[in-house]
Amino acid sequence: MFHNIQIERKKAPVQGLTPNAPMGNESLTMIQPSCRVHINWENFCHNINILNKKGHSLMPVIKADAYGHGVLKAAAALEKLGIGWAATGTLEEAAAVRDSGFSGNVVALLSLVPDKEHVRLAVEKRLVPLIHNREGLHAVKNVLAELSPDRPLDIAVKVDTGMARLGFTLDEMENVAEFLADSPSLNPLVQVSHFSVADEPEEDDYTSRQRDIFSRAAAVMHRRFPAMRCSLGNTAGLAGKHSDTDDICRPGIALYGYNPLYGTSREKDCAGLLPVMEVSAPLVNVHPLHKGESLGYGRSYVATSERLVGWVAIGYADGYRRNPAPETCMCVNGVRVPVIGRVAMQMTCIDLTDLPVPPVAGDTVYVMGGPGNAVSAQDIAAWWGTIPYEVTCLLGKNRLD
Ligand SMILES: *Cc1c(COP(=O)(O)O)cnc(C)c1O
Repeated sequence: MFHNIQIERKKAPVQGLTPNAPMGNESLTMIQPSCRVHINWENFCHNINILNKKGHSLMPVIKADAYGHGVLKAAAALEKLGIGWAATGTLEEAAAVRDSGFSGNVVALLSLVPDKEHVRLAVEKRLVPLIHNREGLHAVKNVLAELSPDRPLDIAVKVDTGMARLGFTLDEMENVAEFLADSPSLNPLVQVSHFSVADEPEEDDYTSRQRDIFSRAAAVMHRRFPAMRCSLGNTAGLAGKHSDTDDICRPGIALYGYNPLYGTSREKDCAGLLPVMEVSAPLVNVHPLHKGESLGYGRSYVATSERLVGWVAIGYADGYRRNPAPETCMCVNGVRVPVIGRVAMQMTCIDLTDLPVPPVAGDTVYVMGGPGNAVSAQDIAAWWGTIPYEVTCLLGKNRLD
C-alpha cells in the first residue's frame, strides 16, 4: 500500500553551502549538518535554580563548549542569574567567556603550562588560570616578572586528592604556600580539587579521604592566605553532600539536566533536573520493506513481516554512533520507534510500522528530547555504552548558533 507514497518535497531538509563566519573569518564556509540541535536555556536556568537551593556558592562548569551546549550562551545565562564564578576548559575559552560579558571569576581548568601569551591573556582579561605543578608556578611567575602588571594575578591552585591527574600532593603544599608567599605577583584565589568517585555511593570512603586531604591542604594554605576560597564538589559531590558549607561547588552535568547519581541508591539527591539539549533530524525517505527483504549496510536487518521504514538524516558523521545497542530508539510524534539496521555516515533507519499515522519524508524525527516519550541523553548513553556527558558533547557539535 505504500508503494506509490508521495515524497513531500516542501518540507525536505535545507542543506548545502551556508555562509558561516566562525572566529570572524568571512571567507570560511561550512556545510550545515542535516540534524538540528536546539538548546533550551530556560531549562538550564531551572537546573541552576535547583542546584542553588543546595546552599553552596556555585562555579558552574561550562568547559568544552558547555558540554556541547554553547559556552557563550551558557555564560550569558550565568551572568543574568548573578552567578559570580564559572569554570571553562582552556584559557582561550575563558577569554571568550570574558569577552562575551561575563563579569565574575573565570577559572580555566585546562590551563597548559602558561607561556607568555597565556599569561598576558589572563592578566588582560582577568582570568584565573589553574596552576597544578611546579613548572606552571615557575612559568607564570617568570612571565609576570617580565610583564609586571599593576595588580597580582589571581590563580587557582590544584591539589591532587586522589584523581592522580593534575595537582600538587598534600606533601608539596607547604612548599607551594611558601613559594606563593614569596611571590607577590601571584594571588591564590581558590584551591581546587576534583572527586573521582563521588557518583558511586559504595565508594564513599574514598570520597571522604579526598575531602580530608583537601581540607588539610587548605589548612596549610590558609595559614598564609586566610582569604583563599575552596572549591571541591562536582555535581555528585554537591548532591551527595560531600562538600563543606563554604565550598564553591562546581556542578557540570546537572546544569545540562542529567543526574550523575542516576541508577544508584542516591538518585533522589539530584532529582528535578530538566534536559537542555534537543536533537532532531528530518526523514529523508519513507518506504515499505517487504517480508524477507534486508536493509542497509551488511544487511543486518531482515524484515520478518511487512514493514514501513524511514531513513533519518543523522549518522556517525554527526556523532550519532555506529554501534548502538539493539534497543535504540528515536521519537516520532511523541512515540518511540526502534532504530534498525546499521547506522550509516549520514543516515539511520527507523521502523515506522507501528505508528498510528505514518510519517512522510520531511517530517521531523527527535533523536533526543522533543515532545512525548522523549529519548534522553541518559537513554542514548546506555545504548552507546557511555555516559550522558559524551552524548551531549558529540551531538552538540552539530549546533549552528
Ligand atoms: C568536568 C569537571 C567538573 C564537573 O563535573 P560534573 O560531574 O559534570 O558535575 C568539575 N570539576 C572539574 C575539575 C571538572 O573537570
